[in-house]
Amino acid sequence: MRTAIVGGGIAGLAAALALARTGQRAIVYERAEAVREVGAGIQLSPNAVWILRGLGLERAVAERASEPQAIVIRAGRSGRQLARIPLGAAARERYGAPYLVIHRADLHAVLWEAAAGIADLRTGAAVGGIASDGASATFEAAGHGEEADLLVAADGVHSAVRTAYFGHSGARPTGAFAWRATLGRRNVPPSLDAGSTGLWLTPGFHLVHYPVRGGEDLNVVAIGGTPAERPAAAGLAPVLADLLAAVPDWVLWPLLGVDETRPWVRGAVALVGDAAHAMLPTAAQGGAQAIEDAWALAAALRAGSLARLPARLSAFEAARRPRVERICRTARQNLAIYRLSGPAGAARDLAIAALPGRAHLARLDWLYGYRPDFA
Ligand SMILES: Cc1cc2nc3c(=O)[nH]c(=O)nc-3n(C[C@H](O)[C@H](O)[C@H](O)COP(=O)(O)OP(=O)(O)OC[C@H]3O[C@@H](n4cnc5c(N)ncnc54)[C@H](O)[C@@H]3O)c2cc1C
Repeated sequence: MRTAIVGGGIAGLAAALALARTGQRAIVYERAEAVREVGAGIQLSPNAVWILRGLGLERAVAERASEPQAIVIRAGRSGRQLARIPLGAAARERYGAPYLVIHRADLHAVLWEAAAGIADLRTGAAVGGIASDGASATFEAAGHGEEADLLVAADGVHSAVRTAYFGHSGARPTGAFAWRATLGRRNVPPSLDAGSTGLWLTPGFHLVHYPVRGGEDLNVVAIGGTPAERPAAAGLAPVLADLLAAVPDWVLWPLLGVDETRPWVRGAVALVGDAAHAMLPTAAQGGAQAIEDAWALAAALRAGSLARLPARLSAFEAARRPRVERICRTARQNLAIYRLSGPAGAARDLAIAALPGRAHLARLDWLYGYRPDFA
């Protein structure tokens, strides 16, 4: 089967790697001349790491990642610890795979190097002009006409395949904005628990931090309501205020989503990753779901005849949709919960503190313990 993949991000590279397990050598078309990942960190929950293990990449990823021992949730004003959700050995025991955090460039490098061995990676190759009669797809890449039996669109939240070929609407604002920063270890306030994943809940924003580059750097993301709401230290616990003061530069990042309820499959074309279901980062699952998509797509296509491709693509979509939609909803709910302030915020803090850390983790079993089939 001739398989073309549009986009060499997490989704596209994971798809190339997963499809290689079924004996297919895909061509990945990446429009960037030189591939680089923007942004800083990414959390890889056990559901993602389990698939990376299946792709033979767990060790390479783990070598460049850190393994936080807990997610520590704190009230931003008082600094009070509300919950300590155990990760580390607790996550390994519970899910059979670790919870890792890694710099995006490191994850991307692992995926790219592995894919380079088993797929044809073409940079400077923007894809457009897609058409499909169901039996195959035609398109232009870097100005040349091409044809494939299957076209996997992994072209991100601004997916042109999604808008031009599927006719879906473009990326839409979620109403939330992320302020992102990376801090060198020497700039991190000494009293901050920088080895864990920290989640701070403040009335104006919530902030997440975790180590990347083997603890050399700290990845910090603050999510607030408007671009004017640069995270401010006034009224916050001293350690959080010190952390904000230590940030040299924030990068403002509008958080965009797509309507994940629209179809992901049409003719010989399938959307995966953010192209299909870009979601809020408040469940830390966008990349993980791109990796799950890749695995599920390859599972649906294994040992399949070309004649049955439409049915197999439909099976892929049917297998993925309930879980992905649930995760998108969860991310939206999390944002709404994190945004509570005043008496509602105080009630939220009480509810979080009332639950033991292990019980918090158990509530995520459906998410982190997911083990899709593969031949
Ligand atoms: C603040 C923030 C924090 C996050 N934290 C996490 C986290 O902790 N854990 C997690 O799992 N996820 C997280 N995510 C989500 C995650 O980053 C994304 O879901 C993931 O990167 C999407 O990967 P992708 O490959 O689908 O898309 P992209 O990374 O956008 O890749 C798309 C690729 O397609 C290429 N492309 C586009 N158009 C064309 C074209 N026409 N022709 C050829 N190539 C093209 C682009 O150049 C790009 O390389 C976070 C997101 C944000 C914003």
